[in-house]
Amino acid sequence: MGKKKRSLFLMALFTAFVLAACGGEQASVSDDEGIKVVTSFSILGDLAENVVGERGQVEYLVPIGEEPHEYETIPSDFQKVSDADVFYVNGFGLEEWLERLVQNVGDVPIITVSDGITPLPISDQDGEDPHAWLDVANVITYVENIRDDLTERDPDGAEEYAANADSFIAELEELHTWIHTEVESIDESKRAIVISENAFKYFGEQYGFDTVGIWELNSHEEGTHSQIAAVVDTIKEREIPAVFVETTVDKRYMETVANDAGVAIAGEVYTDAVGLEGSGAETYIKMMEHNVRTFVDGLNQ
Ligand SMILES: [Zn+2]
Repeated sequence: MGKKKRSLFLMALFTAFVLAACGGEQASVSDDEGIKVVTSFSILGDLAENVVGERGQVEYLVPIGEEPHEYETIPSDFQKVSDADVFYVNGFGLEEWLERLVQNVGDVPIITVSDGITPLPISDQDGEDPHAWLDVANVITYVENIRDDLTERDPDGAEEYAANADSFIAELEELHTWIHTEVESIDESKRAIVISENAFKYFGEQYGFDTVGIWELNSHEEGTHSQIAAVVDTIKEREIPAVFVETTVDKRYMETVANDAGVAIAGEVYTDAVGLEGSGAETYIKMMEHNVRTFVDGLNQ
């Protein structure tokens, strides 16, 4: 191949590459179904759905009822993520299975929607506590990150994303204020959340609760005799009136704690997933309202 011929060939190749790249990008968000978003778990799914609105579809991977820390991916997850325009994850180490997944899903952009939030440490070891979404103020940051990413990815939808995010953030601000008001009815000395996985640290920091878990993270779940005994001691010392269980965690450990401490399990709360259809906690806002009512009722005994 002569010099001139070769540069023409390279130029043609380059042009084809650029065209393919542009064509691909446009097709991904302007086809009939709109933008395709996949999130790692159901709570992020609900947040994304509120921002995407009518402009596309949102799916999530970890089924409701399963916990997202040590989730085992199934073959259809790889397909879902490969077919998506973007994959939203929580970060702070929540998705311990992420590395395995992303090795097999091509070049789908993976966006960490907790960006900009200062993580809390895990109490008894190195690492970050992933449960930032249990503080509504953090969730407003998640929503802003989702809005900004969608706007960049699909600029034609900018106005719609902005309007959707604005009205959702207004609802979240209302929820945030409501929680602060609602928890005031609980005596300060009783403001402690005892739960299997110590997932309410961000919630506690924001809304004024101490939190006690049998273990720190579900992925380090143990429930040893000494862990159970330590929680029982704390309940007795502090005269905490009630304990709680999660929808996504084995309840037997907390049943032992409740028995040994002589307190009631005052209800089930949502930490790592929204509720199933018909539960009354199908959305992030509803699950937070349910949690707060359960805490207020349980701790006011
Ligand atoms: Zn968790």
